[in-house]
Amino acid sequence: MNNYRSWAYIPPLEQKAVRPSWLDFKFEKDAKSLLPYGNARSYGDSCLNSEGLVIDNRSLDHFIEFDTEKGILRCESGTTFSDILALIVPQDWFLPVTPGTKFVTLGGTIANDVHGKNHHQDGSLGRHIRYFELKRSDGKKILCSPNENPEYFNATIGGLGLTGFISWAEIQLLKIPSAFIKVETTAFHGLDEFYELSEKANSKHRYSVAWLDCASGGKQFARGLFMSGDHANYDRKEKSAIREPKISIPFNFPQKVINRYTIRAFNALYFNKNKLVSAGKTTYQHYDSFFYPLDGIGNWNRIYGSQGFYQYQFVIPSSERSTMEHILNKIVDSGLGSFLAVLKEFGNLPSPGMLSFPRPGICLALDFANRGEITLKLIEELDQLVMEAGGAVYPAKDIRMSSKAFQQYFPNYEEFKTFIDPRFSSDFWRRVSGR
Ligand SMILES: Cc1cc2nc3c(=O)[nH]c(=O)nc-3n(C[C@H](O)[C@H](O)[C@H](O)COP(=O)(O)OP(=O)(O)OC[C@H]3O[C@@H](n4cnc5c(N)ncnc54)[C@H](O)[C@@H]3O)c2cc1C
Repeated sequence: MNNYRSWAYIPPLEQKAVRPSWLDFKFEKDAKSLLPYGNARSYGDSCLNSEGLVIDNRSLDHFIEFDTEKGILRCESGTTFSDILALIVPQDWFLPVTPGTKFVTLGGTIANDVHGKNHHQDGSLGRHIRYFELKRSDGKKILCSPNENPEYFNATIGGLGLTGFISWAEIQLLKIPSAFIKVETTAFHGLDEFYELSEKANSKHRYSVAWLDCASGGKQFARGLFMSGDHANYDRKEKSAIREPKISIPFNFPQKVINRYTIRAFNALYFNKNKLVSAGKTTYQHYDSFFYPLDGIGNWNRIYGSQGFYQYQFVIPSSERSTMEHILNKIVDSGLGSFLAVLKEFGNLPSPGMLSFPRPGICLALDFANRGEITLKLIEELDQLVMEAGGAVYPAKDIRMSSKAFQQYFPNYEEFKTFIDPRFSSDFWRRVSGR
């Protein structure tokens, strides 16, 4: 059985894997090509390499050094954010940037230069990485930092695992008063209200994000819940608790359960329930439920059935409001819109990463159940609009973008290519580079 697949559950081609050993790390001699593999929380094919081998990094999960005064942590690259949080939160430190799941590895998050709900204040993860060691297939070890071998540092941050193998990394953490976040939730109707809330919140709060209903039209069009948050001084006794998933999806759902009616009903329920319970209120949430609500539902990716789903995440300049409205209308009209759509405004702090995805603008992420051709056609139409607006699609969520689209979204493509390890490749890379 093929255990190496990505998060969107679209059945990939067979993947073969090797495990690195920390003391005697050697790259497989006979493989056609190699690719590091973290915890496969990328949705598409950027963590897959059906032509050669993936290097399963999950056994490299040791902490190396933790300066609890300065909040500097060095660990092996397969260490998960979940394990890091369990170590650092009880000592009043937090991750400087975290994606919406903690089941990711440090190496995997550097290679996608992940962003979080604080992009407007803190930028992407790459800004907080102090050092890492890059192992190349010729046996060279390159110590990288913003000052040492900065060209390899910049190419590897957001470098999709193609510049070599990150064996360990050092990260600057964020001091926190407790494990709790003070959260304000506001219901909004329409994009104008969203933009207004976002502008106000982003100057005041470290975190901001909105859930958006992408299934309803008419008076309910673009309704959602806007959340802003800050680390707060709250019940210090609770702070080391990390919740384990409570509910699990035990099998793949039959695909006919997921249709425009169930999706619309789910979104209406979610909006109305949360509006009633939390809108207009200030609450204190444990960081686990604020940052990682989906981690509480084990195997939620199985909800879309055995055909899997596509996740689509793009950013366009904030000035392109009419394009965003057009895109949302297209999604609503298609009836393919998803349960969970997340809208967030990125700030303008630059990333060191050459191929980094986050850039100033409005970013939307949503799922589409895989219904074959009609789903792909819709996504291609969305691509066209994103390209015309000067935006970009996130490689970590992609399994289908064309080489033309990729090379437009990432103008440093030609420069980046010169840093690729000659023995490294991925299914994603062969597609977008036209090889
Ligand atoms: C529920 C959910 C929510 C998410 N929310 C966000 C979000 O808010 N923001 C965001 O930015 N992303 C988000 N993501 C995407 C996720 O954060 C990224 O895809 C992340 O990179 C996955 O890390 P991983 O350890 O699973 O790596 P994988 O997915 O296995 O690999 C990712 C990339 O890293 C490379 N890689 C892995 N290890 C190494 C290494 N040691 N050296 C060099 N390269 C390596 C791989 O080759 C691949 O290109 C989310 C994903 C899920 C499932």
